[in-house]
This record gives sequence, C-alpha cells and structure tokens, in this order.
Amino acid sequence: MIELADKVAIVTGGSRGIGSAISTELAKSGVKVVVNYHSDVESAKKVVAEVKAAGGEAIAVQADVSNSEDVLSLIEQTINHFGQLDILVNNAGITKDKTFRKLSQDDWHQVINVNLNSVYNTISSALPHLLESDAGRIINISSIIGQTGGFGQTNYSAAKAGLIGYTKSLALELARKQVTVNAVCPGFIETEMVQEMPDKVREQIIASVPVQRLGQANEIARSVLFLCRDGEYITGQQLNINGGLYM
Ligand code: NAD
Repeated sequence: MIELADKVAIVTGGSRGIGSAISTELAKSGVKVVVNYHSDVESAKKVVAEVKAAGGEAIAVQADVSNSEDVLSLIEQTINHFGQLDILVNNAGITKDKTFRKLSQDDWHQVINVNLNSVYNTISSALPHLLESDAGRIINISSIIGQTGGFGQTNYSAAKAGLIGYTKSLALELARKQVTVNAVCPGFIETEMVQEMPDKVREQIIASVPVQRLGQANEIARSVLFLCRDGEYITGQQLNINGGLYM
C-alpha cells in the first residue's frame, strides 16, 4: 500500500462528472490535485474550493488536452506549483454520437483528438516527471463502449478501444520503472454525459444492467483511488466498473 499524502495528481477534465469525483476522492487521501478544465472555470474553482474546505490542496489549470502546447503548459504549471507529478488521470472525454453514415470527418477527428490523441500529449509531457516518482501511476478512463462497441459510436468506441491497447503497450514499457498504467472502463455512469441521452434510451440501459441501476461517479473515483494506493502489482489492466453489464 502506497502512502498518498504529498503525492501530486493531474486529473484532466476534472471540473465535473467523473473527473470532479476523482479529484475530490484523491484529495481526501492527501493527494495534491491539479484540476484541469477546458472552459468551465467556475466549476473548476468549485472543485478546488471543495478540496480546500476538506483540508486538501488543489489548483485549477486551464488546458485543452487535444492541444500539445496547452498540455505542456499544464505540466509546467503543475511542476512550478507542486514540484513533482506522481499520478496522471486521463479523464477528459467527449462524445459526438451519430450513425457512421451521418458522421462527418469533423465528428470523427474531434472525438479521436480529445479522447485518444490527447493521451499522447499528456503522457509525453508528463512522463519525465512520473519516472522520477517512486510510485508513478497513469490511469486512462476508457469505457465499456471501447469493449463492446456502441450503436452510433464508431468514433468514440475507436478512441476508447485505442486507449485500452495503448494502456497495455505502455504498461509493458514502464513496468520496470515503478510506473503502472491501467485503464478504468466505466459502464453507464450518472453524469451530464449520460443525462444528455433521451429518457427512453436511459431506461433501456438501466433495464439491461444486471444490478439494475446506473453507476455513480464516486464509484469510478474509488476505483482510481484503489489503483493509486493499492495498485503496486496491478498494471496493464482494464478495471471494469459496470454493474455486470460486460463480463
Ligand atoms: P463529462 O462530460 O461530465 O466530463 C468530461 C470532462 O472532460 C468535462 O469536464 C469536460 O470539460 C472535459 N473535457 C472535454 N473536452 C476537453 C478538452 N479538450 N480538454 C480538457 N478537458 C476536456 O463526462 P463524464 O461522464 O464525467 O466522463 C468522464 C470520462 O469518463 C470521459 O472520458 C468519458 O468518456 C468516460 N466515460 C463516461 C461514462 C459515463 O457513463 N458517464 C462511461 C464510460 C466512460
């Protein structure tokens, strides 16, 4: 078990939904958290305030993860402020769901850029610092859709499946360097991303989940905490948190 007090984490897209739950959960264990946000500064400030109110440390840093210069600046600001980086949670993601025949080139590229190419940006800039940690952790938030596919989600499933392959390859490369690399694959979690679905689709999804409910963001956050604190011997894995929907 790793002592997390004084470790430093970046959570991309940390201002709402699953990212905000991960930020606050890690902070409760003493991790200093960089809450990355894209455009909603007010929500990011709220997460930082919540962490501070609970006695933790956090800062909010703007960066578009699909932009390599933004990401370099995110890592630099982290090191300037906290002096180290131990945990990188690649959580930022978007959907642009359409059947393939209606999918524009832009819909394809945006989803691949934000969900997959972003991980090249974050890890290439963060890796020199993670390698200096005695317990480096990279956690990629993939999706059940990267495992099963999803109707109208060719772009998203390609990106999320790509993250899983990337996770395994990088885990092999970093296994001897005290840096673990894992993917967390949420099922359907009750966040704004899922609230945007039509009610009928939501009801169908809930009926198909063996535990008969949507997941909660803090259930994903606790799995990330587990990988950070108890995951010294866990690398290259897909941790499925999906109520039994995919086994
Ligand atoms: P959300 O839409 O509430 O949060 C996504 C976050 O990513 C937001 O804070 C958003 O601002 C940020 N983001 C988007 N584009 C960005 C960019 N270019 N740069 C920086 N940040 C950016 O969604 P969520 O449900 O909390 O999803 C979080 C992650 O979990 C995503 O990767 C998503 O694909 C994945 N996921 C979600 C579910 C679910 O059911 N909600 C299921 C499986 C996987």
